[in-house]
Parts: sequence; structure tokens; C-alpha cells
Amino acid sequence: MKVLVASSIAREAIDRMRKEGLVVDERPGISEEELEEIIENYDALIVRSSPKVTARVIERGRRLKIIGRAGVGVDNIDVNAATQKGIIVVNAPGGNTVSTAELAIGLILAAARKIPQADRSVKEGKWERKKFVGVELRGKTIGVIGLGRIGYEVAKRAKAFDMNVIAYDPYISESKAKELGVKLVSFDELIENADIITVHVPKTKETENLIGEREFERMKDGVIVINCARGGIINEDALIRAIKSGKVYAAGVDVYSTEPPDPNSELLKLENVVTTPHIGASTKEAQTNVGLIIAEDIINLFHG
Ligand code: NAD
Repeated sequence: MKVLVASSIAREAIDRMRKEGLVVDERPGISEEELEEIIENYDALIVRSSPKVTARVIERGRRLKIIGRAGVGVDNIDVNAATQKGIIVVNAPGGNTVSTAELAIGLILAAARKIPQADRSVKEGKWERKKFVGVELRGKTIGVIGLGRIGYEVAKRAKAFDMNVIAYDPYISESKAKELGVKLVSFDELIENADIITVHVPKTKETENLIGEREFERMKDGVIVINCARGGIINEDALIRAIKSGKVYAAGVDVYSTEPPDPNSELLKLENVVTTPHIGASTKEAQTNVGLIIAEDIINLFHG
């Protein structure tokens, strides 16, 4: 059985598959065209968010039985084309949950205490202690939108900061929230009462622009807003306006409507926006986890 690894994945995952007798070829950074040319030799394909696994690649993958996405989003894989050919597509939800939750907490702290701005200032040779007066998290209300895997871990960590946690998620049970001491509230209640709002929902038709002009107007003055989920769940133009008007104290943004964002985007020019380049899952541990999850799926398929 031959496995093509078309993105760089954790060494542990490659070793694990080889130990089970699979032949693993590593071609990280391979182009779509090259992938089309060589895919006919492989039984399994592993990718991350690139390269694209198009219908053409799938068509040419005559031996292909499984495509593994070492991560969560499968938007670079033509899942319909794969399903039509009976090829299994697997991903690794859960492997990067804690890493993403930790980044969300990091962005909350960075936004509340202006850590990146203070860092820049010191490195510019300045000593502006009065400029960097922040806000404490203790006693504040954090509103978690989407209490799934990541939202749950964020809520747990927020509790450790002595924050009051409220959440909106119409699809989870009251008992799951109770377990954590989190109060489930309506969407409007969350928007109106939270000092910090963090979104952890998938991007769907229902959640695109979930937070827009109307929601910003109803928020508390001085709110902190975090998006570590997907670009566009919080409308970027509305966020820019809400920051400029002073409604939003600070924002932490890891994901953008288009990635990479336009370097001239106003969002990137606002002093109190802390930005990161979609690095929620970018930790050694998360990469090992997602690699191993996909390796196990492939081993199980071939070795029963
Ligand atoms: P999950 O499926 O475990 O949780 C999502 C939760 O959102 C579920 O509990 C679901 O009930 C809830 N939900 C769905 N629609 C909703 C709605 N309209 N209103 C309120 N709640 C709703 O997913 P997860 O693993 O926690 O991931 C959450 C998000 O984080 C996803 O968008 C994912 O793509 C993103 N993510 C980002 C990074 C990153 O690098 N920044 C890394 C991993 C995941």
C-alpha cells in the first residue's frame, strides 16, 4: 500500500505508517499539476490545507481509496467527487482544539493588555507606561458563541481567570454547559451582556456575518471581540467601524474574509486590533495530533 504525503506532516505520523508496513512517499509542496501526474501510483493521499485535491486529481487516482486531511477544514478537497468514486475522506477534528483555544485566550490577553503594541513600543526605544493601561479579565463576562470543542476549552480556561462565562449554542445540551458552570443564554442576551465576545462556530450560511452592524450597536461599550474561527463570521467592515467609533475596545483576529488579507486593509492599520496569520492550529502538539489521527485512519483502512 502506497501513501503520498503531499504536505508536511508530523514525523511521528510518517514513522507510524512505515512501522505498519506502508510505503510512504513525502512530497510536501507538490504542485497540483505534479499531483495529477503521480496520483495514479497511490492508494492513500494526505494533505493539509493545500494542495487542492480537485475532481481531476480524484479522477486520475485510479488506486486511491482514502484522502486524509491533517486538520479540520476539507474545503481544499472535492469531497463530492471523492464520494462519487467511493473514496473515503477523513479529517482530524479535535486534534487542534486545545491549541486553538489557547490562541483565543492569548488574543484575549493580548487585546486586554495591549501586549503587542507595548512590545513594539519598547523595541522602538520608547518607555510609554501610561499609554499601555489595560483592563483585567477577572470578574468580566465572556460570551462564547459556539460551545463546541474549542468553545468548551475556551470556557474552561476563562473560568480559571475568574470570569463569568455565558454561551450561545442552540445545538448543545444544557447539561454540557452546566458541567462547566456556564450559563446558556440567547444570542441577543449574549451580545448585550458580554464584556468579551469570542466566536467558535463553523462557517455556514447561518453564521456568515453572524456579528454585523446591528450586533455591534447592541454590545456594551468597550467590548473585546475575538475571531479565531473563520473569517466573515464577524463582518470585517462592521468590526472596523465599531473599533473606529470606540464601541469596541480591542479585537483579536486570527482569520480573515480573504486570506491572506489585503495588506492595505484598514483592519490591519488599527492600533487596537491584534492580528495573527491563521495560526490557531500551528503548534507542534496539534500537528502531531492531527498527523497521528490521519495515520491511524489510514492504517485501520488497510490493515482492518
Ligand atoms: P465544533 O463543531 O466542535 O463546535 C462548533 C459549535 O458551534 C458546535 O457546538 C455547534 O453546535 C455550534 N454552532 C453551530 N452553528 C451555530 C450557530 N449558528 N450559533 C451558535 N452555535 C452554533 O467545532 P470546533 O472544532 O470547536 O471549531 C470551531 C471553529 O473553529 C470552526 O470554525 C473551525 O473551522 C475553527 N478553527 C479555527 C482554527 C484556527 O486555526 N484559527 C483551528 C481549528 C478550528
